[in-house]
Amino acid sequence: MKVHEYQARALLAEAGIPVPASRVIDAPEQAAKAFRQLGAETAVVKAQVHAGGRGKAGYVKLVASANEAKQHATRMFAQPMVSAQTGPAGVKVRKILMAAAVDIAKEYYLGVVVDRARRTPVIMASSQGGVEIEEVAARNPGAIKKAWFHPHLGLQPFQARALAAAIGLYRLQAKTTADIMLKLARLFIEKDCSLAEINPLVQTPTGEILAIDAKMNFDDNALFRQADIAELFDESEENPAELRAKEHNLSYIALDGNIGCLVNGAGLAMSTMDIIKLHGGEPANFLDVGGSVTCEGAVEAFKIILADAKVKAVLVNIFGGIARCDVIADALLRAAQEVGFTVPVVVRLEGTRVDVARQLLKEANIPQLQPATDLTDAARQVCAAV
Ligand code: GDP
Ligand code: MN
Repeated sequence: MKVHEYQARALLAEAGIPVPASRVIDAPEQAAKAFRQLGAETAVVKAQVHAGGRGKAGYVKLVASANEAKQHATRMFAQPMVSAQTGPAGVKVRKILMAAAVDIAKEYYLGVVVDRARRTPVIMASSQGGVEIEEVAARNPGAIKKAWFHPHLGLQPFQARALAAAIGLYRLQAKTTADIMLKLARLFIEKDCSLAEINPLVQTPTGEILAIDAKMNFDDNALFRQADIAELFDESEENPAELRAKEHNLSYIALDGNIGCLVNGAGLAMSTMDIIKLHGGEPANFLDVGGSVTCEGAVEAFKIILADAKVKAVLVNIFGGIARCDVIADALLRAAQEVGFTVPVVVRLEGTRVDVARQLLKEANIPQLQPATDLTDAARQVCAAV
């Protein structure tokens, strides 16, 4: 689960990490007042969206007056933000953070993630923080220093001191930054994060160290024990079809192609996408209805797939183990009745009660339904159909 910068800043502040004062607004009319309330000479106006790359997109702006704050807020609320991390249509801005601006002498990077290869959290630090961090990571990976730590023991003070020194900090700034690293690493573990990032962590000309941007993602599987985090969920930032699928326990991810996929099991869904690509097609989604799918769940899955205007054909690929093919066939017929098939639906069924299922489909005699003999045949048919 992702949260907004303003929510992540609050968590950092709560953990004792220095963060400049800020306010959140949800309409341009509130901008001037928020600017005045901050009482700072300059402020920074920042779009609150789950996508990054805001600085480069023009959605992080320094302003020196209430009027200027209002102008930028008006623009950001009106025009969806298009950045390297959004699609071409961009994302709508619903909230804006107005923070007291800080003078920057140097920008650092701090981030904690899980190193899956080593199966342990890792904290990364760099003296080349800021909006170019992706380029730094790609071109000069040596500029990113790392320290791995045990999830139960946490980051050790000696590791934090060594890391602060490795990115060129010394004296008071090294001490302050090492302390921030320890707090960030602790927060990462305590809140079940999958990412806790400060980019940039800045040093001011007077030697202060502050976090001026924050990004935190959380492990969905841990939300049951993180009630305060779960409450931060912002539905408006999610893909509506993905939300709807989640409500029905379906695992659905929207993609860019035109072949809708309905599959049981994540592994089979992955191989279905592979075989579609092998035959020259592009999947419109990943949809795993799960091993023990019910008729209602499958009908809902069809509705979600067919509601996507990009979908020009559907491939149903079911291997009946625990799931029964006749349940899926039944759902297919119900979906045909309830939503109607406007595009070809290629069906490959195999496994438990497949004979009953095939008979059901045959008797229903729906012209858009195309039975397939095996997976290759199914992929060929669906690619030909689009
Ligand atoms: P991102 O592009 O989405 O990561 O947004 P950030 O909050 O990191 O802002 C992007 C860049 O804007 C930062 O790297 C800074 O260079 C600049 N910036 C953000 N806040 C301030 C501020 O308070 N003062 C100054 N001088 N620059 C800022
Ligand atoms: Mn940033």
